[in-house]
Amino acid sequence: MTQLFIPLNVLGFVYREIRRALTDMQRMLTMLDVPPAVVDEPGARTLAVSSAAVRFEQVGFAYDASRPILRELSFEIPAGRTVAVVGPSGAGKSTLARLLFRFYDPDRGRILVDGRDITDYTQNSLRTHIGVVPQDTVLFNDSLAYNIGYGRPGASREDIERVVRLAHLDGFVAQLPDGLDTQVGERGLKLSGGEKQRVSIARALLKDPPIMIFDEATSSLDTESERAILGALAEAARQRTTLVIAHRLSTVVDADEIIVLRHGLIVERGHHAALLAADGDYARLWNLQRRALAPQTSEQARD
Ligand code: ATP
Repeated sequence: MTQLFIPLNVLGFVYREIRRALTDMQRMLTMLDVPPAVVDEPGARTLAVSSAAVRFEQVGFAYDASRPILRELSFEIPAGRTVAVVGPSGAGKSTLARLLFRFYDPDRGRILVDGRDITDYTQNSLRTHIGVVPQDTVLFNDSLAYNIGYGRPGASREDIERVVRLAHLDGFVAQLPDGLDTQVGERGLKLSGGEKQRVSIARALLKDPPIMIFDEATSSLDTESERAILGALAEAARQRTTLVIAHRLSTVVDADEIIVLRHGLIVERGHHAALLAADGDYARLWNLQRRALAPQTSEQARD
């Protein structure tokens, strides 16, 4: 009987692991919203990155030919710098991130990394250099450690603990019944939007890429959560070329350049103080948000 039980037990374990892997894979693809649009060119090379400067050159793009989303868009993120993109909903902000990660290719113009057109290189090699913190982070039904360690297969417990600190998650983890071994996800502990986004930042920090895309969640956060996210984001952006798709303007005040997008066009660009002084679209967005969030973020507001 025991002889039969052991193989059955092993078989059960293998079955559960395979099922979990398939579910994880499925969720990952849903999370990435992977379209089949982009195919590597024959003979596409492996992209090696040195300083990781990013440049959009006259980029035009439409999901559907009858409705242009981005028009002749040009900007640069110098190596190690942060550019934040703001603008009304539907302006095309997240589309910029999707193009840089090559979920789609531009219809016109080019996107360059270190002066190389990314369409000449394999998607896989490009993506190894980019960390993405998406708007909505999917958590697997597994431990918090698994969910973070996923950023770099083979990461040690010490590595995970280090990024937990950098992502300002250590205080949160300390309160959990089993710390990093606490089960999270649909069948485990539910995390708030801000906590999930910090898990995602920790994942990205573990990957340690030279380029970071931060697609901020739209939901407003309480002041403490907002501060923790800002701290984690500052850590993620340190010495990395960073594109921030911002919904809450508190995230962008320290960016090296802020780009204001409207209907796929850059309508303003510059530093926070200069844009406020210009009293245009950015100043209007800023004042609107400040009024809306006044009770929560008045201490943080800077102008
Ligand atoms: P938000 O602030 O609401 O996140 P956004 O500025 O990031 O908006 P995008 O997500 O870039 O806007 O979308 C720009 C436009 O493209 C929107 O009108 C959107 O409906 C459309 N769009 C986005 N994804 C697709 C898609 N896969 N197929 C067709 N249209 C799309």
